[in-house]
Amino acid sequence: MMEILTESDLRIGFFVRGEREFLIDPDTVITEESRIFAEHHGLRIERRKAGSGVQRPVTVSPGKAKPEHMTNLNAQELVPKNDPRITFRGKLDTFQAQLLRVIAKCYKYNSPKLAEYLYEAVELLRKVMAADVRNEPLPEWTFLGLSPEELRERSHHPEIYYNMKHQPPEADMRYAALELNLLRAQSREVEMAFSCAFIEGTSVKRGDIATLLNRLSSGLYILYCRAAGGEFDGCQAAGGGTQCCQAASVPAKVMQVPVEVSARHIHLTKSDVEKLFGTGHRLTCKRELSQTGEFLSEERVALRGPKGEMTNVAVLGPERPATQVELSLSDARVLGVNPPIRLSGDLSGAADIAVIGPKGELEARGAVIAARSHIHLAPEDAKEMGLQDKQLVSVEVKGDRPVTFQDVVVRVKPSFRKFMHIDFDEANAAHIGKDAVGLVRP
Ligand SMILES: [Zn+2]
Repeated sequence: MMEILTESDLRIGFFVRGEREFLIDPDTVITEESRIFAEHHGLRIERRKAGSGVQRPVTVSPGKAKPEHMTNLNAQELVPKNDPRITFRGKLDTFQAQLLRVIAKCYKYNSPKLAEYLYEAVELLRKVMAADVRNEPLPEWTFLGLSPEELRERSHHPEIYYNMKHQPPEADMRYAALELNLLRAQSREVEMAFSCAFIEGTSVKRGDIATLLNRLSSGLYILYCRAAGGEFDGCQAAGGGTQCCQAASVPAKVMQVPVEVSARHIHLTKSDVEKLFGTGHRLTCKRELSQTGEFLSEERVALRGPKGEMTNVAVLGPERPATQVELSLSDARVLGVNPPIRLSGDLSGAADIAVIGPKGELEARGAVIAARSHIHLAPEDAKEMGLQDKQLVSVEVKGDRPVTFQDVVVRVKPSFRKFMHIDFDEANAAHIGKDAVGLVRP
């Protein structure tokens, strides 16, 4: 149901369909531009009654009382025509008209999918117009099937989501990309007009509209990237492509894993627990870890190597068949040991170290490794991501010190939960804090 009668609606009706009378719903808003257009072309606009029949026609002749340089901001308020909010509405209207033109071309050049996307943009502009005229909050919205947050994320990483590097616009580009680039630039102009009307100092009066306009240009940028990659090739200029909206090789799903940083720790056998903490002692759980069944225990030990000692080292439970110490290479340097890079459980070539507990100490031979970075996956996750146990993948971590980890081992087990594990050296190399996410590439 139409909620705003815009000048574009009248233009299309009048020029395309030859209509001279327009029947609208009782609550439909008529923009000032529509009134002027209707007046200029002698069109009649009539309001439909809620039931049936026709109510009074809307007067489109110039109001006697209204001076030429004034216009209606809303039903109550008259403002001069150079009011920034009127300028903003004019920009919205122009932008909508430009979108409609491109939509018409999309149909002509057999690219209905792109036309559909752009029509979503038109609908959003109409919502903005209605929210502004009625001074009501915007309803919830999506664009291209994406939430505002997703639009932002995806427009920042077209290389990840659409396999497209940013391409500066150039004349030899695909025609659809050029059209979309123009629309994107025009959407920025709408945003500028919005800023002039709604931003005072550092505060914005209509944050909801600001967000929508900002994400709308993100969405148009996403479409631009997709078009540049050939996704809407049916939309090429005359004589161009003939396929209809062929999808480019878009990766099915971006595979993300949360990254956890493992501090230095030790796993102990039952008998080593007793040697260090006393006969009959069992590890006590202080906190459960991300992997099912694993826990950080209350117990602590000290490690002593040829060059130094480290106290307060975490003991992870439950007890294991072999005692294993996992250190970063920085730790190893401090202690004076030389561990190999190994997956947990693989102690071939592992280094020796002395472990000291409150009730005793032991020499752990062939127990020290520097953990190889790995990803834990449950079988369902592995299947969804198309990965297999022992597969090696690259994991990119973004941030102010982006790092790509190579040869990360995928480990699949029913008890596993989706996490990547790295040690402190690796985390510092990539300046990783809490809530880091790695992007997995097979
Ligand atoms: Zn792990």
